[in-house]
Amino acid sequence: MTTRGKLLVIGFGPGSFAHITDRAREAIQEADVIIGYNTYVDLIRGLLTDQEIVRTGMTEEVSRAIEAVRQAEMGKKVAVISSGDAGVYGMAGLVYEVLIEQGWTEATGVEVEVIPGISAINSCASLLGAPVMHDACTISLSDHLTPWEVIAKRVEAAGMGDFIVALYNPRSGRRTRQIVETQQILLKYRSAQTPVGLVKSAYRSSQQVILTTLGEMLEHDIGMLTTVIIGNTSTKVYDGKMITPRGYQRKYTLDRAEQPIQMNERLLEKNEPWALHGGDATERLEALKAGVAQVKSTPRSSAELAMDAVSLLVNRGVLETAVVEREAHVQGALFAQPLILEIAVSPGVGNKKLTPKQMATMLEVVGEDGEIEYTPNHYVILRVTTSEPEQVASVLEAAGMIVQPVGSVVQLKACDFCNMEKTDSYPQAEEIMQRFGGLTVPKELKIGFAGCGMACYGSVNEDIAMVYRQGKFDLFLGGKAIGRNAHPAQRVAEGLEPAQLLSAVEQILAEYKAKGYPDERFHKFFKRVGNLVGFHHEDFTAPLVIESICGD
Ligand code: SF4
Repeated sequence: MTTRGKLLVIGFGPGSFAHITDRAREAIQEADVIIGYNTYVDLIRGLLTDQEIVRTGMTEEVSRAIEAVRQAEMGKKVAVISSGDAGVYGMAGLVYEVLIEQGWTEATGVEVEVIPGISAINSCASLLGAPVMHDACTISLSDHLTPWEVIAKRVEAAGMGDFIVALYNPRSGRRTRQIVETQQILLKYRSAQTPVGLVKSAYRSSQQVILTTLGEMLEHDIGMLTTVIIGNTSTKVYDGKMITPRGYQRKYTLDRAEQPIQMNERLLEKNEPWALHGGDATERLEALKAGVAQVKSTPRSSAELAMDAVSLLVNRGVLETAVVEREAHVQGALFAQPLILEIAVSPGVGNKKLTPKQMATMLEVVGEDGEIEYTPNHYVILRVTTSEPEQVASVLEAAGMIVQPVGSVVQLKACDFCNMEKTDSYPQAEEIMQRFGGLTVPKELKIGFAGCGMACYGSVNEDIAMVYRQGKFDLFLGGKAIGRNAHPAQRVAEGLEPAQLLSAVEQILAEYKAKGYPDERFHKFFKRVGNLVGFHHEDFTAPLVIESICGD
């Protein structure tokens, strides 16, 4: 009786030993015969011992598969090696095709084990940052076995569906047109600024990584060993890394069409489909009008772009209307996510009392599906499903309330001026609100404002604080109101005239806005830069430190 042979179809990853799985190594060791393309055999040479080697040229995959099956049927353990993953453009499918043609079944034929490896989409993504954090596809631009018309349709569909795209085999010496056409197709759906990563020979000694854009990618060297990863409409570049947020944004606020999710909200299930996105800053009062205009003229969402593309394809006869109609309810369910306006509302800069009429107005605005969230920041947050922010804001303002954007913006937290009886400094508080409230900054920033030296409402613990004393102001910077290392802001000036105070705050906020890292809190920024418009940072040190027996 002959021994039952075995086919080990192995993906050995990008080409470095460190990225070969243990099972792939074991399989190579246990094989009697190794069959592979010349370059692949060379890449795993360090793992070979006494195995018989069958090497072939690049285009001889079918011969390799036939030879592997033949030798396995002789009772040998045969390893068929592919770079990347054996089941992703690798040898696994071809081996099964040869077996099936010969009437193979799992019960009666040779044993088959497909051993997975790291495919290029994964290895290249890891070198670029995190570009494949959302729905992605791989498309091989090789029309050797697939008609170009089919490949082009796939590219079109990937563009239409806003997939992150990993292009395999993007260009060869003779095949140069496909990558150009691919770029042209995707530019119909994505900005020329869309981040693109070009990775050649990932994790090999000749590795090259280039970060470019969809508009400029063809200016770089792209060849058969390059994998091209094209971001979707949400993909961003941060500090040389290509990063795709995990979802699309549904929340927006007054001055921006999209609104970053706070880090502490990011992992909530309800927030999982939303994205990290920035926007230009405008001052609060202008933002009310400009923000409305921006919302109305917002670049079209991915879903809208996709539906536009569907219409385009129908018009060109590429897709049948019937197909589109059949899928429409599914598309609708996926794409018709309502926009949620999120705004901060308060009864006044110092006034902390909402009237029954104002409360009724808020209830009317949010309706049955909205939300009113009480916060410790002297405002409530309203979440309203609407695409009419102007109307919502004007209804609330007509009821005497202050309406502001939320998120990474400047917020004023004033005291109540002794129930609005000590109002000497009130005009300055109003001016601070008018000039800086709602200004977009790297991270949410609170300005504490106290109407006298009593400094009620914890004002000196805020990021920036100002305390009014006999017509002048003391200025404090870099407070940290919460956390184990909470500390008051550092007093950096005393006796500033109101005009001096406003000027200093304006310059400080401009510096923070220009030089702060995304999500960098103001107290960290002050510490990092050390000197902020002439005010020097001093480290806060605890006056007494006793080591806990329980450790940290
Ligand atoms: S800080 Fe001064 S003015 Fe403001 S509420 Fe307190 S005591 Fe009154």
